[in-house]
Amino acid sequence: MPHRDSERRRVYERERHRRRVEERRAMGLCIKCGKDRPAPGRSLCDSCLERSRAAERARYERARLEGAAYGGRDPESRRRMARERSRRRRRERTEAGLCTTCGERKPVEGGAVCETCCEERRVAERELYAERRARGLCGRCGAEVIDEASTCASCAARDMKRRPRKNAASRARYHRRRASRLCVDCGAHADAGVRCASCA
Ligand SMILES: [Zn+2]
Ligand SMILES: [Zn+2]
Ligand SMILES: [Zn+2]
Ligand SMILES: [Zn+2]
Repeated sequence: MPHRDSERRRVYERERHRRRVEERRAMGLCIKCGKDRPAPGRSLCDSCLERSRAAERARYERARLEGAAYGGRDPESRRRMARERSRRRRRERTEAGLCTTCGERKPVEGGAVCETCCEERRVAERELYAERRARGLCGRCGAEVIDEASTCASCAARDMKRRPRKNAASRARYHRRRASRLCVDCGAHADAGVRCASCA
């Protein structure tokens, strides 16, 4: 039975992991990497501690982006408290001149979040987007899409409102190219017309 086999395998892996942890602890090594000495009073070394903090932050950030309550663990009733708590923490960190996400590093110039947290957030967003697209959902909000589009109707509508800026930029480019007798599509030299021979 495949199910029984995987169950047995899990039990075996768990036991092996437990044994390895005990051995490392007995040797006075970080129980995670088994290479460095643990930080004072901890069972992990400094770099493993930092890595696990980063992983926790990334997990939390992902859950937040997906709209789950508090890391996807707590029931609905705790949401409000959690929101209140995080708002207070954000304010305290801002006042202390620290990143609102990690509370450890200085935020980037003119921002509220440090470079590291920014990057983590970008990674989480990219992953979430790719995951949604892979499931055939809107990459932006996770809603259903029509005909394999990359965004749902409401995200597309929101995009339309932002369009004008882009249109202004492309209009400006059009006129610049026209004035320099360049192809308005590709910017190559255009002899007589608005477009070059290959774009015409
Ligand atoms: Zn370690
Ligand atoms: Zn940070
Ligand atoms: Zn959407
Ligand atoms: Zn062209």
